[in-house]
Amino acid sequence: MGLEEKLPSGFLLTTVEKLVNWTRKSSLWPATFGLACCAIEMMATGAGRYDLARFGMEVFRASPRQADLMIVAGRVSQKMAPVLRQIYDQMPEPRWVLAMGVCASSGGMFNNYAVVQGVDHVVPVDMYLPGCPPRPEMLMDAILKLHHKIQNEPLGARRARQLEQDRAEGRAR
Ligand code: SF4
Repeated sequence: MGLEEKLPSGFLLTTVEKLVNWTRKSSLWPATFGLACCAIEMMATGAGRYDLARFGMEVFRASPRQADLMIVAGRVSQKMAPVLRQIYDQMPEPRWVLAMGVCASSGGMFNNYAVVQGVDHVVPVDMYLPGCPPRPEMLMDAILKLHHKIQNEPLGARRARQLEQDRAEGRAR
């Protein structure tokens, strides 16, 4: 009997997929920037007390080209939206976005012309975190939930979604 008949169908592909996703989720590097008061809690999360290093992600990167996680910590003003989008575009794929706090997720109490009513109007969001501001434990919980999502993501799905989005926005790759 050949090896292919002995192995359950799809065995090898599933294993590679899990391995790749495990390496991705175990070394998320967030981009260094904060937009408002939520950023203070994000910085506290990165400090020694909460030990983000145990999740392989203590390194907040000053360059978006070295980051694959954008934590949108705070309300997004209309003026900041294009800058935020540019930072996102400079991050290499695969990349993930976490909307931290009610302002980043939906505009929160800033229901006015100056604030974007949810950062998902500017970039695709993978994880929403409620709270004003969310405590470091809540941010870590959201990060762990994002890990779980990354671990179970089909390989290539993210790239396909990006291409579809670029086509919709009229940007060739
Ligand atoms: Fe500030 Fe609260 Fe908005 Fe966070 S959710 S940016 S703490 S007002």
